[in-house]
Amino acid sequence: MYLLLVEDDLNLGNALRKLLRKQFNVDWVRNLGSARSRVAAAQYDVVLLDLGLPDGDGVQWLDALRTEGCQTPVLILSARDRLDDRVKGLDTGADDYLVKPFEPEELLARIRALLRRKAGTAQPHFVVGALSYAPEAQQFYLDDRPISLSPQERSILAVLIQAGEKPVSRDRLLQQLYGLGEGVDSNTLEVRIHALRRQLGRERIETVRGIGYRLVAL
Ligand code: CA
Repeated sequence: MYLLLVEDDLNLGNALRKLLRKQFNVDWVRNLGSARSRVAAAQYDVVLLDLGLPDGDGVQWLDALRTEGCQTPVLILSARDRLDDRVKGLDTGADDYLVKPFEPEELLARIRALLRRKAGTAQPHFVVGALSYAPEAQQFYLDDRPISLSPQERSILAVLIQAGEKPVSRDRLLQQLYGLGEGVDSNTLEVRIHALRRQLGRERIETVRGIGYRLVAL
């Protein structure tokens, strides 16, 4: 089992890594930028997410992850103990919320519960023509062959394929890129769409004038 710990506090991070390593493989990062690149590069079984991080709020990143279709269980670990913080975290897509300080035994029990639940859930699969997407693995396939995409391309294509053949607005797609923390200007989306078309075939992504883009079932 492979865990990602996102925690900027040095002492707590060290202590948690030591605790978790007895039972799991653990990667520990201390900011959202590193968390983004780890999640893009590896498939984790559970993400343990602090909220107050030096480069942003964990809830915003969680929101972007869920919008992309990533279903990795996320357990928020936060000192924010107000009801509305907990509700917001869970509504944004966290699977559980543990208020700091907590007992190590409780953290381990909650991780085990998430892993059991994950093992029992079916994975939805999105298909448009020859293109398909497995959100859990964040993997796209063309004619059943895995294709490799940059995190930005993957993020855009995930939104498009979840809309089926319906058009998705430029704003919605740009939001995805903002969610990845990328510098976004007026050209960024076109550049990514161009790259996707080069890989998938021009006709597979149609420009819908005045709106944005849509996938075509080919
Ligand atoms: Ca923190």
